[in-house]
Amino acid sequence: MRRLRALPLFLTALIVLGQAALGPVLSAPAAAQDFASPTQLGPTVVVIVLDGCPAGSMDLLPDEAFLGGGRRADGCLAKAVRAVFPSSTAAGHAAIFTGRYPEENGVTGKEYLRADESLGRFNSPNLLERPTLFEAARDAGFGTAMMSAKKNVRLMLSGAADVSVGAEEVPDWVLEAVGPPPDESGQYDDYAGWHVKLDLWVLAAVQAYLEKDYSPAVIGVNLGSPDKCGHRFGPAPSEETAAAIAAMSRGLEDLAAKLDATRAGNWCMIVTADHGMTRVDKGITALDLIDEVVESTGTEIPVTLDGGVLYVWAEGEAASELAKALADAEGVAEVIGQDSPEAQARRAELHTRHPRTPPLIAVTASGYMFIESPLFMDYTRGSHGTADLDTDLLVPLVVYGPRARDGNAEQLFNAAGSLTDIYGLVMTILGIE
Ligand SMILES: [Zn+2]
Repeated sequence: MRRLRALPLFLTALIVLGQAALGPVLSAPAAAQDFASPTQLGPTVVVIVLDGCPAGSMDLLPDEAFLGGGRRADGCLAKAVRAVFPSSTAAGHAAIFTGRYPEENGVTGKEYLRADESLGRFNSPNLLERPTLFEAARDAGFGTAMMSAKKNVRLMLSGAADVSVGAEEVPDWVLEAVGPPPDESGQYDDYAGWHVKLDLWVLAAVQAYLEKDYSPAVIGVNLGSPDKCGHRFGPAPSEETAAAIAAMSRGLEDLAAKLDATRAGNWCMIVTADHGMTRVDKGITALDLIDEVVESTGTEIPVTLDGGVLYVWAEGEAASELAKALADAEGVAEVIGQDSPEAQARRAELHTRHPRTPPLIAVTASGYMFIESPLFMDYTRGSHGTADLDTDLLVPLVVYGPRARDGNAEQLFNAAGSLTDIYGLVMTILGIE
């Protein structure tokens, strides 16, 4: 294991300008003599997850916006890739940061059934069954940081992060540099505006990190406003969601400028999303169906409603009764059991064969979502989670910056089809085998 060491900014700048004569100066303070040339000074890679931002939403931005079509065409690499199933937050983030599908990394959805039959969230690094990008980067000597608008995402991914920042976890240096996160009491007066403010605070914390520490680093960032606004107001072009994505575009433009100012020529920003968002106007109150089966069979049935997907831990007779009821319900596109060869094949195709995946899964058709109560549809216009809808599954993959084509990044980018391909892309840019 080698440690890259922090260099004063002026040295970094000189190195980047190609002042080869600096070799002896660099070898003086630390042992890592093999980092004495610009190409050997590791890059800083920032992986931005625009939570719940479908690939199509990027095309609605003005051409001249940082994330807009014109700018994306201008020298950076940009395409759409597919999210994993279920197309939801925990599974998407785990796929990005482990480079593995749910059946391999163990993050199979929003919740899993614990040994005591209670439902647990994926909010701990102990639940990941594969190493994260942060572990690989830290082992190779890079600094690591996870900064997130969403708490569970941060908790799940911070196992090997030197720095972990969120509204509920604010280190003193962040407080000093950017102040406290927006006050939660204001959250419901201006729902969209508050979530945009929180994301901009997260981005300000990333900037503060870049100014505080010039060492090469891998930084993971979750920005939640596209998802929060997408659920409440519907995906772009709904006004609030489009405005949130435009605000993220401006925030990332500022971040790119900061990367350039602190490590000129030696950075890369990857922008993607954990899943997309689909407009919905009809709710499926699956709990009513389940209650009927619970009454008739007398068994407890743990259930997770996750928008476009329903996870049901039912066995035997209860499972088959419920599978029938769900298959007949309006708006249900698919019911996946576990015993038939067809069900096994479908689970294999979805990369979801894992003990944490429940025996019964139902998926909605476009326009529908699973919901606790019909009342919730009054303030829900967007959902995600399904297995086949492009609006849920197609997400952006944009690679910006002077190190975007390092190693065989361009080849890997061209071959990339899934969120799980981002891990390899980052590793090659970092120069890690
Ligand atoms: Zn969401």
